[in-house]
Amino acid sequence: MNLGVRILGVRLGAVNVRVLIDGPSELVFDYAVPEGLDVRPGCRVRVPLRRKSSSGTVLSIVDGVQMDFALRDLESLIDPDPLITPVLLRAGEWIANYYGCGIETVIRSLLPESVRSEENSAKTRRIVILDRVPEEAVMEKLVKRAPRQHAVLALLSHAPDLRMAVADLGDGSAAVLKAMEKAGLLRIEQEEVRRDPEADGVDEVLESQPLALNQDQQRALDAILASLQTPAPKPILLLGVTGSGKTEVYLQAARHVLDLGKTVLVLVPEISLTPQTVRRFKSRFAAMQEQVAVLHSNLSQGERFDEWHRIRKGVARIVIGARSAVFAPLPDLGLIVVDEEHENTYKQENVPRYHGRDVAVLRAAFEPCAIVLGSATPSLESWHNTQTGKYELLRLDQRADGQAMPLVRIVDMRLEAAKHKGAPAILSDKLRTALEQRLEKGEQSILFLNRRGFARSLQCPQCGHVCQCPHCSVALTYHRTDERLVCHVCGHQAIVPRKCPECKDPAIILQGYGTQKVEEVMAKVLPKAKIARIDADAMRRKHALRDILNAFKSHKIDVLIGTQMIAKGLHFPNVTLVGILNADLSLHIPDFRAGERTFQLITQVAGRAGRGELEGEVIVQTYTPHSPSIQYARKHDFDGFSEQEMEFRRQFAFPPYGHCAVLTARSNHERRAEFTLQTLHLRLAENLPAGIGLGEVLPSPLIRSHGQFRFQITLRSERARPLTRHVQAVLARTTLPEDVTVVFDMDALSFS
Ligand code: ADP
Ligand code: ZN
Repeated sequence: MNLGVRILGVRLGAVNVRVLIDGPSELVFDYAVPEGLDVRPGCRVRVPLRRKSSSGTVLSIVDGVQMDFALRDLESLIDPDPLITPVLLRAGEWIANYYGCGIETVIRSLLPESVRSEENSAKTRRIVILDRVPEEAVMEKLVKRAPRQHAVLALLSHAPDLRMAVADLGDGSAAVLKAMEKAGLLRIEQEEVRRDPEADGVDEVLESQPLALNQDQQRALDAILASLQTPAPKPILLLGVTGSGKTEVYLQAARHVLDLGKTVLVLVPEISLTPQTVRRFKSRFAAMQEQVAVLHSNLSQGERFDEWHRIRKGVARIVIGARSAVFAPLPDLGLIVVDEEHENTYKQENVPRYHGRDVAVLRAAFEPCAIVLGSATPSLESWHNTQTGKYELLRLDQRADGQAMPLVRIVDMRLEAAKHKGAPAILSDKLRTALEQRLEKGEQSILFLNRRGFARSLQCPQCGHVCQCPHCSVALTYHRTDERLVCHVCGHQAIVPRKCPECKDPAIILQGYGTQKVEEVMAKVLPKAKIARIDADAMRRKHALRDILNAFKSHKIDVLIGTQMIAKGLHFPNVTLVGILNADLSLHIPDFRAGERTFQLITQVAGRAGRGELEGEVIVQTYTPHSPSIQYARKHDFDGFSEQEMEFRRQFAFPPYGHCAVLTARSNHERRAEFTLQTLHLRLAENLPAGIGLGEVLPSPLIRSHGQFRFQITLRSERARPLTRHVQAVLARTTLPEDVTVVFDMDALSFS
């Protein structure tokens, strides 16, 4: 077979590569690699583009034999070392296969644009350096003969390390400095400057000392340390009740890893919502601040570039970040910690739809290094892995400070409603009394409601009309402060109608309630209390979240009202009461994980109570007091909950017994979205591999979103790969209409 003759322009044995060109248009082209260049994925290269030369990043090696036209040659390698380590490249390939997306997309996620782009290259400045303080005699001579040179030397000899930035010497010093450099009086050099994201001095951190561990913590730490010494350690699930001292265990484990000369990666659900965890890491390692990098979403491009390179060079040795930090290029990785591993925010909701925790586990296996997943309410996926022996289970069943778990009381809101003649109460009598008591005693409370805004919707009592978003199939939410209706899906805004748009009745009323309404009711019930609200609306202002949390910490606020933004790792010792206003909200979402979510949410929110010297109490208001999720959460009983929930999952073959994926089609044209999915359904049904369950084409629970109609198919399979492969194969040989978007979501967490 003589390919060289048949295919024009392809040299036998030649390697071709696919290159992502730098720049906003994200162009991708293939190039031939000239003899003798060692080009690998992740390499930075120069390539010809039209009549110019451009820089880019190699995404993948492509199979040269399929080319039927001449490729241009790549010009040169900018850096001989690829930006992607072999381990991360392997993880990237796994993601592409497992989640069914192109390796190109994955590499883009792996290498943030700020790292690829040439414009963000390291920032440098010119500095003057004095090798030693000049002798008195020299200075004396200069005073008269060259006063400006004398001034420069005088300044420099008092500067720290005898060095100063040229810019700091003032304008017009260039000629003087040049002359002095020539005369050998000083040196001028280029120095790299780090764009320090913390440089504006957010707040100073004091170094914290390690605590003496209790027995359970010590056992957990020992197990983690043992796994550091194991060649291929099992992932560890650290199941510890809220306040059991998991974070202290992570901190001490991290210290050991650093002492071993290795590096540490800490993943948290979301940086802005877990300020205390980040702070605790910062203060424990305050003496080595330079070595700590916090990757959050509002770093500037330049800051991100600098942090990334500090990590890659091994300067930053502890990295704390959210999901995408799983790709941080740490060399010699010793330990990965995934805090609150059950959180949904670890799953990326656009392509590549990877799960940060699962990629972390995989990365740990590839490195290899130790990995600890921690939670008070582990995902059933991770729990299942401890049952099958894939993960090691460690437990912390007591609170670290010796406090009891908070007492949880359930209030049946159906009885409350009857008491108040059917009017839906927001605060039950029990909760109101409890709030009053705390205020008298000078203790703090948290009220949790998983819904922002003032009232759920505007509904006409005459005709039943509900004000809906014109682009999404949800009711608009009333926002009191600025008198408007807002769609919580797409952000659409509307003015509040004075009468029913449908039947013109002026009696249109508000149904349900949200955080804003709770704030208003509280102001009436407890007029003396200082109240603040945390939700996405209240947090628009920069630093608003930080400011409110600080005010709450220093007890300038008595009652904090919030959405799930306050459910995560917050720790306030003076909080003795937590009220959960409507515990049923998350039970009614159309999702087989609804029970698990509710259990997690109540347990986590309840865990905010009684974290100091004082005992905590939790009051849960619900219309379904007997639901197992609520009852098990009341008893802080993860084992009981997981046992019954796993039984349900097993019966219906839901995850963790098998994988569940969703194929969604969306379009502005309802029929076209549905028809496309039906076509795909027919093709998926042909030669369906054994063990794959193919669901029907159904409208998505949220049938309209952002103006687009959505339909979906749920697929299930015991094994993930055959499912992804089958769907990919069908998608590859189906031409989709231009105005229909099809999305495949493996291990989907959202079914709306
Ligand atoms: P978790 O991460 O499991 O929610 P934390 O690490 O936040 O728990 O610990 C809860 C509280 O207990 C914190 O105030 C922490 O300082 C304290 N704590 C943790 N370990 C100990 C210990 N060994 N001795 C005393 N207090 C501890
Ligand atoms: Zn909308």
